[in-house]
Amino acid sequence: MHEHDVIVVGGGGAGLRAAIAAHEEGADVAIVTKLHPVRSHTGAAEGGINAALRDGDDWHDHAYDTMKGSDYLGDAPAIETLCEMSPEETIQLEHWGMPFSREDDGRVSQRPFGGLSFPRTTYAGAETGHHLLHTMYEQVVKRGITVYDEFYVINLAVTGEEDPEERSCHGCIAYDIKSGDLVGFKASGGVILATGGDGQAFDHTTNAVANTGDGPAMAYRAGVPLEDMEFVQFHPTTLPSTGVLISEGVRGEGGILYNSEGERFMFERGYANNAGELASRDVVSRAELTEVNNGRGIEDEYVYLDMRHLGEERITDRLENILHLAEDFEGVDGLEEPMPVKPGQHYHMGGIEVNEHGESCISGLYAAGECACVSVHGSNRLGGNALPELIVFGAMAGRHAAGKDLGEAEIKTGPSASIEEETDIETPVAPGAIDQPDPDVAADGGALADADAVVERALERERERIETLMERDGVNHADIRSDLQDAMTRWVNVFREEEGLKKALEAIRECRERYQEVAVADPSRTFNTDLIHTIETRNLIDVAETITLGALARNEFRGAHWRAEHQERDDENWLKHTMIAWNDGQPHIYYTNVILEGADKKYEPKIRSY
Ligand SMILES: Cc1cc2nc3c(=O)[nH]c(=O)nc-3n(C[C@H](O)[C@H](O)[C@H](O)COP(=O)(O)OP(=O)(O)OC[C@H]3O[C@@H](n4cnc5c(N)ncnc54)[C@H](O)[C@@H]3O)c2cc1C
Repeated sequence: MHEHDVIVVGGGGAGLRAAIAAHEEGADVAIVTKLHPVRSHTGAAEGGINAALRDGDDWHDHAYDTMKGSDYLGDAPAIETLCEMSPEETIQLEHWGMPFSREDDGRVSQRPFGGLSFPRTTYAGAETGHHLLHTMYEQVVKRGITVYDEFYVINLAVTGEEDPEERSCHGCIAYDIKSGDLVGFKASGGVILATGGDGQAFDHTTNAVANTGDGPAMAYRAGVPLEDMEFVQFHPTTLPSTGVLISEGVRGEGGILYNSEGERFMFERGYANNAGELASRDVVSRAELTEVNNGRGIEDEYVYLDMRHLGEERITDRLENILHLAEDFEGVDGLEEPMPVKPGQHYHMGGIEVNEHGESCISGLYAAGECACVSVHGSNRLGGNALPELIVFGAMAGRHAAGKDLGEAEIKTGPSASIEEETDIETPVAPGAIDQPDPDVAADGGALADADAVVERALERERERIETLMERDGVNHADIRSDLQDAMTRWVNVFREEEGLKKALEAIRECRERYQEVAVADPSRTFNTDLIHTIETRNLIDVAETITLGALARNEFRGAHWRAEHQERDDENWLKHTMIAWNDGQPHIYYTNVILEGADKKYEPKIRSY
């Protein structure tokens, strides 16, 4: 068994920042990650980091834009912390050597981004995430922080008290991809989940194949509620054949969207008369699909994004990466032709419910980055607000897990915080042996008290589960995953209606039942991607089910959640967070209040127009 004070699961932007912060507090910290840190999906981030750095800008304006962008479903204290701390954290990156793009006078460049009232998106070309990862990885190496890379974490070691809020997390169990062994990790301070997104629940996504929602699914099965899972962001400019992202930076620099009739539809069809192409992402995605559905798309599928008028010099200076992506993945020369684009799954606003310190309702279990919901994005994330979330809340989670007293955080809690029960949504089939979370109970039925015993017991249980998967005959995970992705893409996409959501839920439940018979065909113990993908598919089923349950229950249109039957935002009934907790083998839906009171003002919900 490996032992450290703090274990960070994931070596992306959030995980690296958390590890550095924990190390600075004197903790013995280790990163456990299924990919090498610099291969994490943060490396794909193109556009930039929002930070109120310039004269004339103010973090309060950033907070206002973020609250408006969230369609008033973000929590004000967390949003204010994000916006206040982002400049400091961005400057920290600069001091660590991040090669930001610069103006002629040497100042770090900033550009406009969707939904922002000031050009406050700081960037490093169109490769911001790549540079951010490398900059922080250098700091991890410099500090001698232990990195267990190619270790796939398959479960948490959590005690088995009946009430999830009384449980504690003592570590995690990982499959060592190179040796084939199962390994226990014990953490005396805390386990920080920083596992990133879950875009693989859909089949057209900007997310990498590794983005399978492992963190949220593990936390959910351990008893932590998942928050606001129905809110999934669909980015308006992805390449049709692959889902590869064309950064919002293109529109930030002045790129224009056209339909098949050559109309600049964002203005000419009245979707966003002020902001046009730079309206918030949910608005632009719906506009594009409306154009396609009304016969004004190209090949009935996409619209054009044109940047030719920006000129070769500006494009190669600021958007060179985009030229390569369009050429390599679509065969289009962005200097000569417009690029085909359509909406694709991009980001998950929902995630593991945590407070500003990254604490979940299970003691010793933290989350940061895209897998967490603090919540700062509410029902729609503004472009450029995820990277600051990684560095601001990653650092706070690292410090807290290392034992630093950060004062009071506006505490969000587990199931006891319920303000309202939701009873009319059917719960799913009971999970079978392969799927079920076994509580760590002692022989007398009580919770195991000793941390070593909790990790050992979890290790034993995972060994049995893996043996079963490897030794029996059964169905392959790939068909199940593909059917799951089809259902989510067809029915839980930009436009959602009750009938479709119910069909999706049925399809997901069928996937869950079929998963009880799943087996791993590849008998090798090392580098067994069949085994990894089989376990990931189980996580995707949990994630997909919570997204769909949340979407079916939420009878209103807010942010990225559009409902055919409910065309209005309903503040009277729905100004609340959806929480889905796994209780007694079933999802349980309840709601908690949104916090609109900031430090010095209340954010009154207004009509969101751009
Ligand atoms: C194409 C693209 C462009 C984007 N551009 C921007 C942008 O310009 N600005 C912005 O603000 N946001 C942007 N975003 C969003 C932002 O980049 C992501 O939300 C963010 O980088 C996620 O970081 P993370 O640290 O949470 O996760 P990741 O960077 O995905 O890291 C997750 C880590 O967890 C590890 N991991 C996962 N599961 C396990 C497991 N079971 N066991 C062990 N390790 C595990 C992985 O190996 C990886 O190291 C973009 C997103 C995409 C997809």
